[in-house]
Amino acid sequence: MIDTHAHIYLPQFEDDGAEMLMRAESVGITDILMPAIDFESEKQMDSLISEHAGQTTIKLHRMAGIHPCDVTGTIDEKRLLDWCSKPEILAVGETGLDYYWSTEHVSDQKKSLKLHCKISKSLNKPIVLHNRDSTTDLLDIIESEQNGTLRGVWHCFTGTIEEGKRAIDLGLQLGIGGVVTFKNGGVDKTVKQLDLNQFILETDAPYLAPTPHRGKRNEPMYTQLVGIKLSEIFDLTLSEIDIITSSNARKLFTLEF
Ligand SMILES: [Zn+2]
Repeated sequence: MIDTHAHIYLPQFEDDGAEMLMRAESVGITDILMPAIDFESEKQMDSLISEHAGQTTIKLHRMAGIHPCDVTGTIDEKRLLDWCSKPEILAVGETGLDYYWSTEHVSDQKKSLKLHCKISKSLNKPIVLHNRDSTTDLLDIIESEQNGTLRGVWHCFTGTIEEGKRAIDLGLQLGIGGVVTFKNGGVDKTVKQLDLNQFILETDAPYLAPTPHRGKRNEPMYTQLVGIKLSEIFDLTLSEIDIITSSNARKLFTLEF
């Protein structure tokens, strides 16, 4: 099983990083993908990886990008491109739009998203998209940037059936996380109407822990709870969900099978 979105390099895991990785390994997590938040994330990921080298069989993968909530002006284009170009960087993100926390920097957020799209295409690395209260603008920009070579994921999908279908038509996978387990969230009913062959699993740790851990710190082992929820929704076994979603993730991020 693959956790395609976990910020395990953040201070929330400072005290029990080794145990957190062991717990993930014990439920069958093989790979964890770490989306960046800002330029500082690079050092944090590097030190996490060097700290736990040899302690775990889990492969830890790095991304490079600036989270929309951290976009408050013009981004240093050259610095971002250099970072994304490094061979150890698997994907470009997370980028996207977020109108929930602030609409003050919308035009900078849009410029940043377009820049990340351009870099993603030029390096042929997938893009990882964050979206909150900004779906139409996000998908409009992806549509305008889609030239047949842009591929990526709408992480923590919480859209409608129509929005999910539009995203898939635009070449995106849907990242399914803990929100699908929330009562009254409605995401479970939405994803049932969408194509499982376009889904990948994620936690967004340390945020958005699935039921019954809602409100507490999230961690990669809970990817399994998301998988179990999908197995109930689609009436399949957890192993079948794992095979489908892991293969989707391996294709999207060109991970070894
Ligand atoms: Zn995230």
